[in-house]
Amino acid sequence: MITHHPDSGLLLDYATGALAEPMALSVACHASLCQTCAEEIQRLEALGGSLLEASGRAQVDATSLNAVLSRLDEPETVTPPTVPHFDDKSLKILPAPLRDYLPASLGDLKWRHIGSKVSQFNLDLHIGSFKVSLMRFKAGQSQPIHTHKGHEATLVLTGGYTDQGQHFGVGDFDLKDTRHKHQPVVDDGEDCYALVVMDAPVVLAGPFSRFLNPFIKL
Ligand SMILES: [Zn+2]
Repeated sequence: MITHHPDSGLLLDYATGALAEPMALSVACHASLCQTCAEEIQRLEALGGSLLEASGRAQVDATSLNAVLSRLDEPETVTPPTVPHFDDKSLKILPAPLRDYLPASLGDLKWRHIGSKVSQFNLDLHIGSFKVSLMRFKAGQSQPIHTHKGHEATLVLTGGYTDQGQHFGVGDFDLKDTRHKHQPVVDDGEDCYALVVMDAPVVLAGPFSRFLNPFIKL
């Protein structure tokens, strides 16, 4: 059962499209596993849509509508991207939004080994100073005690871990920042795969401005 969710500010930023892509990916993966958050995002998106309509900004003028409609008759020239074939284990473990960012099944990724306890695969997703990694933590191992220069969002995909007296299992969303000095201990019995997103060392102030897309000017 999922007990740790993105906070309401993150869900709102996601629903309004304000989140930078790495954090949006993490929230989307959580929402694909968590019906509660998926429904809350739908509610926020509907709310945003009705606000837009009320302000009149959603009206499409006839000229641009005709331009779009005429393009529907044009022949399709776009070559579809090559979709990697994922094996059954990967399909079971990887949320659908994450698969779009991976070139191969879990067993075929070029993992970087950090000691004997941790393996890391960095996603080809370079936005600002975000770093997005798929991590594999060995079962039953404690990780080095550490803190962060910025934020760290961890989404558990298999197994689980205990950190600062709280347990995080499959689907749980764990957000840590510079206030947290911690040492996760991975559950026995199963390796823990997790999607980990870290942002820049710069910590912005304000509950709704922590992960703003760097291309959005306020
Ligand atoms: Zn949730």
